[in-house]
Amino acid sequence: MPLFLPDFNLKNYNTLGVSASARFYVSVTNEQELREALQFAAQENLPLLILGGGSNIVLSDNFPGLALHMRIQGKTLVSENDEYVWLQVAAGENWHSLVEYSLKYHYWGLENLSLIPGSVGAAPIQNIGAYGVELKDVFEELSAVDIRSGLSVTFIKDSCAFGYRDSVFKNQLKDQYIITSVTFKLNKIPQPNLTYPVLAERFAHRSINEINPQEISQMVCDIRQQKLPDPAQIPNVGSFFKNPVVARNEGARLQQLFPDLAVYPVDESHVKLAAGWLIERAGWRGYSENGTGVHAQQALVLTNPGGADGKAILALAQKIQDSVAKKYGIDLEPEPRIYP
Ligand code: FAD
Ligand code: NAP
Repeated sequence: MPLFLPDFNLKNYNTLGVSASARFYVSVTNEQELREALQFAAQENLPLLILGGGSNIVLSDNFPGLALHMRIQGKTLVSENDEYVWLQVAAGENWHSLVEYSLKYHYWGLENLSLIPGSVGAAPIQNIGAYGVELKDVFEELSAVDIRSGLSVTFIKDSCAFGYRDSVFKNQLKDQYIITSVTFKLNKIPQPNLTYPVLAERFAHRSINEINPQEISQMVCDIRQQKLPDPAQIPNVGSFFKNPVVARNEGARLQQLFPDLAVYPVDESHVKLAAGWLIERAGWRGYSENGTGVHAQQALVLTNPGGADGKAILALAQKIQDSVAKKYGIDLEPEPRIYP
């Protein structure tokens, strides 16, 4: 039986460094412990907070339930052929350690997703993405436990409804499954993706046939370290808002008003706006109040250098949302999940 710790402070378990406690905390390292933890929560009628690295959550208050920390470890090479390798990775593995592992064996696919904090099990929840690649591009299937029945289920790609920072686990199946492992399909044959402008620029002087995944990973890490605050130094959850996806005519209307607005095509009828641009041009970059702040290098990142509580961070977020709505008529939606 795993240990259930009462009134547990989660300050060191969320990268915003918010001091808030869970009624109970449990760390699970295998599926047996996971099932026992689910039984405990059901018996005690406790809501669940499934916790990975805590890099995409905001604790607005104490959590009146069980914080279930997924720490199941392990990597298994499921199969391979001349072109691909299928790797099953347990939910509690650290994401960037997985990227490093894949690079060690010269597999292609994860290099653009280097240095994203958090766990493997959380990656499908918002279909993590960066530098032109999304989790869905390397995803084969995942295993999950049904919270109500305790049964194990497999989800293939089509049943995950992956979208832009989105999946079925944020929508129809929200709070119904705990992901226990993810199976990746990685390439043995070179597949550099340098479509993202800053990467294309940095590798412009090189022949694409000479570039290896380690170099792309290193470049991504360098760019990220220049621009993004390290949560260990300056607490944050990365991008605080999603990039808004709007109808093309709405994008065109805004571009007339703001000719240098950053607009990217999504599909035939939609475009994506860079939320960081909207926030920066509304004057928020570098702003700070009550121990919280807006990162000076990237206005999409809210920070918590003063160890403020979740309410102070959400109050700043609301001010930014109001100001962006007033200036552009655009509603910004927070990316991290807010608890309770
Ligand atoms: P947590 O914060 O612990 O959880 C997030 C959500 O997933 C919660 O709702 C939680 O209940 C749920 N969850 C976690 N594990 C499981 C599981 N096993 N089963 C079911 N539900 C689960 N994101 C990007 O997409 N791209 C980026 O480039 C990026 N860069 C970032 C940079 C910084 C500096 C930071 C701080 C964050 C960044 N993020 C980025 C956001 C974040 O790292 C990712 O969303 C990451 O996948 C969250 O992982 P986590 O383990 O910390 O999840
Ligand atoms: P950036 O390069 O300054 O670009 C700003 C925004 O413009 C990004 O959000 C990006 O959208 C979009 N963009 C730029 N070029 C694009 C193109 N050619 N096609 C489509 N969209 C384009 O962004 P950044 O803040 O330094 O982040 C770099 C990458 O890391 C981005 O992919 C970003 O999503 C990712 N990141 C994510 C988080 C997070 O918490 N979610 C945190 C840090 C970084 P996309 O976001 O769709 O790529």
